[in-house]
Amino acid sequence: MSRVFNFSAGPAVLPEPVLRQAADEMLDWHGSGMSVMEMSHRGKEFISIHAQTEATLRELMDIPADYKVLFMQGGAIGENAIVPMNLIGRTGRADYVLTGDWSKKSHKEAKTYGQVQVAATAESSKFTAIPKQAEWKLDPGAAYVHICSNETIGGVQFHWTPDTGSVPLVADMSSDILSRAIDVRKYGLIYAGAQKNMGPSGLTVVIVRQDLLGHALPITPTAFNYKLQAEADSMYNTPPTYAIYIAGLVFQHVKKMGGLKAVEEHNRAKAKLLYDLLDASSFYRNGIAREDRSLMNVPFWLKDETKNEAFLKGAEARGMLQLKGHRSVGGMRASIYNAMPIEGVQALVQYMKEFESQHG
Ligand SMILES: *Cc1c(COP(=O)(O)O)cnc(C)c1O
Repeated sequence: MSRVFNFSAGPAVLPEPVLRQAADEMLDWHGSGMSVMEMSHRGKEFISIHAQTEATLRELMDIPADYKVLFMQGGAIGENAIVPMNLIGRTGRADYVLTGDWSKKSHKEAKTYGQVQVAATAESSKFTAIPKQAEWKLDPGAAYVHICSNETIGGVQFHWTPDTGSVPLVADMSSDILSRAIDVRKYGLIYAGAQKNMGPSGLTVVIVRQDLLGHALPITPTAFNYKLQAEADSMYNTPPTYAIYIAGLVFQHVKKMGGLKAVEEHNRAKAKLLYDLLDASSFYRNGIAREDRSLMNVPFWLKDETKNEAFLKGAEARGMLQLKGHRSVGGMRASIYNAMPIEGVQALVQYMKEFESQHG
């Protein structure tokens, strides 16, 4: 068996020990005589898996008791509608900060559900930097302020937490949740699709402060009503059981790695290898403001774009896959989520140096 270095933006690489454990437990989970996939979500086995998954996440992220953790479906794109449906009703208005493709998408979707304002946009820098807080025009009557903490396509990331006063901060953390320690108390709601840093696709994690529940618009589908899901322990409808189980194994793995502080250090070391190379090179460029560079998704371009195909082919021959940039921006993108080992980044950096010396 040979495993590649998978630089996919998502679904993405998972920790090998997690995949091994899942394989070991595939036919018979802990003597139950069943695969987790075959279990009733109401049975005691799955209820214990669910409870353990939530408890480990709460411990890792230090989630306060007055926050609910919901395991839902629909992905982050689903949440782009589910968030306003549940939260905007309090005042009818919401602020969005635009930092790239994903936050633009969130903003566009929210317009259907209320009065939505752009509080700040990085459009003038072509989304290569996060707008400084001093430039934000926040509406004190907004029901929430929405940000995307890490723009998976553009490669910009918040390295500071916005201060939105008493207006709840909502963050799409799909591509950087669990990659670093954050203070959950500074957020009203955090949502993330699982398939970047937590597990398989199909699971969406929502962390929401309890007092924000109960303002859902009447059109909200019951399965997407946070309050109903919170009251039902995310079992109002059948939750994505197998994805919850795998996420639980990933959470335990992250705990074994030393928790989020240790993971963050590891991620910083990996990203530094790549950015140091990009900064020293005139053959490759990144183009993102230094202080806003993503530790998770590193887009880069070859100065000579006619060499793109050759670059990708050579990478593939060395077992490094999915380096092609998003179709909307072109170039290359190395997604280096938690589960990408430093050896993968070292191999990429080595290859990039060799390619430069051959083609530069
Ligand atoms: C991947 C991603 C999404 C889209 O997630 P879906 O699961 O396709 O809904 C949204 N936002 C961010 C930041 C992402 O990285």
